[in-house]
Amino acid sequence: MSRMIVQKFGGTSVGSEERIASVAQIIQKASIDNSVIVVVSAMSGETNRLIKLAKSFGENPSKREFDALISTGEKVSAALLAMALHQIGIKAKSYTASQISMRTTDSYSKAKILDVDGQKIQDALNQGIIPIITGFQGITESGDVTTLGRGGSDTTAVAIAAQMKAERCDIYTDVDGIYTTDPRVVPEAKKLDKITMEEMLEMAGQGAKVIQIRAVEFANKYNVPVRVLSSFEPGSGTLISLEEKDMENGLVSGIAFQKDQMKYTLHGVSDTPGIAYSILGPLSDANIEVDVIVQNISVDGKTDFTFTVSKEDEHATSEVIKQMKNSLDFDDVIVDSQIAKVSLVGVGMRTHAGIASTAFKALSENDVNIQMISTSEIKITIVINESAVTKAVKALHEAFELEK
Ligand code: ADP
Ligand code: ASP
Ligand code: MG
Repeated sequence: MSRMIVQKFGGTSVGSEERIASVAQIIQKASIDNSVIVVVSAMSGETNRLIKLAKSFGENPSKREFDALISTGEKVSAALLAMALHQIGIKAKSYTASQISMRTTDSYSKAKILDVDGQKIQDALNQGIIPIITGFQGITESGDVTTLGRGGSDTTAVAIAAQMKAERCDIYTDVDGIYTTDPRVVPEAKKLDKITMEEMLEMAGQGAKVIQIRAVEFANKYNVPVRVLSSFEPGSGTLISLEEKDMENGLVSGIAFQKDQMKYTLHGVSDTPGIAYSILGPLSDANIEVDVIVQNISVDGKTDFTFTVSKEDEHATSEVIKQMKNSLDFDDVIVDSQIAKVSLVGVGMRTHAGIASTAFKALSENDVNIQMISTSEIKITIVINESAVTKAVKALHEAFELEK
């Protein structure tokens, strides 16, 4: 029996008729020795166009209709790619989430995959047909269309690889692998041959959009080897390794950053037990992910409580805070929409001290003001003004000599 692999092609990789034709060639080559399952994103720019279009009739359209609309881009590219394969004599069929029962939770725009009907995919493979599956979309129990969050096609691909027990999931994109930081921001960034699952979880979680965090979580949970590589040029890309890394390799492996963040400070909340829960509980109930959290020391029994959320959740967060006013006493809310997060990631941090001070020195020498700091075993995250991101990332990249 031939090996089974999943190949996922991102937006730029299927961004034009020429690109789709070239992707068809990659699939044809792989299908000589492997059973290939394909997952596609919408053509580049298409999802953004649809999101803009969705705001035509008000800033906050129905969540159900929003997902019904923004999921359509993937259907176009899947059908086009099947046609391109037919043209070169390869049997292929496009499938939507509904056709392969890609079932998700019903939290629109950030739905989580529950299960998928592998039989439909297997049937196609048994007939020598290459299944081309729409990424990013799912269906609820009642058959409504959902989407998996920006970059969600990566997760579709890894989930299918896990379900089908594929040998590997190859994520084809517009860069030739995973770099020490976004190579479009720091041209000196270095491509990594391998990165540990643990590090990739932190990098993706902190904004390295080269692969969606949920995809890495799936790969980790179901032991799916994932490779990130270019659809534009040949090369072996970067393997997200299931093995532990030898500690010889640097202290910091990479730097991730995330713009489009919001910082909320509830000023003058009473410093009593349960206060964090009464703020974070309702946010969590509304499915809003809160990241960096800081509570100040109290003065006269009152304190400040600060947290960050993604700008996508701005409207939902304001609504929750408005509601909170009924049950929680605070003086006012200070909102900062000009912030960003920068994170240093590396398993070497576990065993080495002094990383934070090297980072803070580099930032101070570059006049970058730190607003918040949060650390975990293998990560340091700082919150800064959005305008300072490029400067901060470059300074840190240089301070830890990541270009070497
Ligand atoms: P696709 O459409 O193929 O899913 P994305 O735009 O979602 O592609 O992801 C690829 C982009 O991720 C790259 O063009 C690059 O700018 C960005 N990126 C951010 N961090 C990294 C990193 N550490 N290594 C490589 N690329 C990165
Ligand atoms: N098309 C979707 C997006 O732009 C999903 C993806 O590209 O992975 O976010
Ligand atoms: Mg992507």
